[in-house]
Amino acid sequence: MFKPERRTLLTMGLAAAGAAMLPGWSVAQGGSSSGARGMRLILLGTKGGPRIGGSRSNPANLLLINGVPYVIDCGTGVSRQLVNAHVPLARLRYVFITHHHSDHNLEYGNLIYNAWATGLNQQVDVFGPKGTEAMTRTYWELNRFDIETRMADEGRPDLRKLVLAKDVLDNGVVLQNADVQVTAFRTPHPPIVDNFAYRFESADRSIVFSSDTAYNPRLAEFARGADVLVHEAMYGPGIDALVARVANGATIKKHFLASHTLTEDVGRVAAAAGVKTLVLSHFVPGDDDSITDDMWAQDVRKHYKGRIVVGRDLMEI
Ligand SMILES: [Zn+2]
Ligand SMILES: [Zn+2]
Repeated sequence: MFKPERRTLLTMGLAAAGAAMLPGWSVAQGGSSSGARGMRLILLGTKGGPRIGGSRSNPANLLLINGVPYVIDCGTGVSRQLVNAHVPLARLRYVFITHHHSDHNLEYGNLIYNAWATGLNQQVDVFGPKGTEAMTRTYWELNRFDIETRMADEGRPDLRKLVLAKDVLDNGVVLQNADVQVTAFRTPHPPIVDNFAYRFESADRSIVFSSDTAYNPRLAEFARGADVLVHEAMYGPGIDALVARVANGATIKKHFLASHTLTEDVGRVAAAAGVKTLVLSHFVPGDDDSITDDMWAQDVRKHYKGRIVVGRDLMEI
């Protein structure tokens, strides 16, 4: 299933070369509404963690595959960022949750709700680790009054019947349709065990999302030969500065080091995988703007000689 050949690495430095910021992109140019062919990656939120603020939105990614939106993770702000990316919310079709940390699921229900509020009328398939089905049912309870009021008062379809949520329980193919095959791969993110990286394979591209993860050399096998690997990134000196400011710093630092991947190790994974392009995202710390793009990339480069993109919200790769 995975492409066995190791692709020739492109020798490019840090860059935004080939990556475009969305403000210059519009639906009229062949965007989401036009049903443009191919798989397009747009970063919606590139900050790790649930805190709101700063220059980055919370974790979320978008693939447009032959014009159909696939949302990967639903951190706070995902609905607004889809609007900013010129994707009509009512066209939502697929949602993938990597794990149930709140920075990845807090706006899951609300994203679907917001899509319904703007006219959603087709099935939405949702895939996520154990707990996704239960979370969906609970969300219906939480909003039962409004859903039933609007059904009766505004003639809207029953949102609860439009959404098909499925728990992903193990590695393997979770979705196969005419456009794409999506495969899940469990990766450790202590203390969370039910945590999945996803690989999207279409006719023209393969894109892998690492999820939040401790340094995991086995992810290189899962991402082997992919066109793009979107990997979380933790900047060691930034963590030291962060923990120095808080009372429970030692405990927090222990958590970070056990459950996330330092930039140097991200470089190891990308090099071993032989991916064409590495996109750094889910930055930890994510609201320290004194960390420059070059600082994010410098330790990655020790191991990975391919193209590195330091992610920004609404960047298309
Ligand atoms: Zn996270
Ligand atoms: Zn997490």
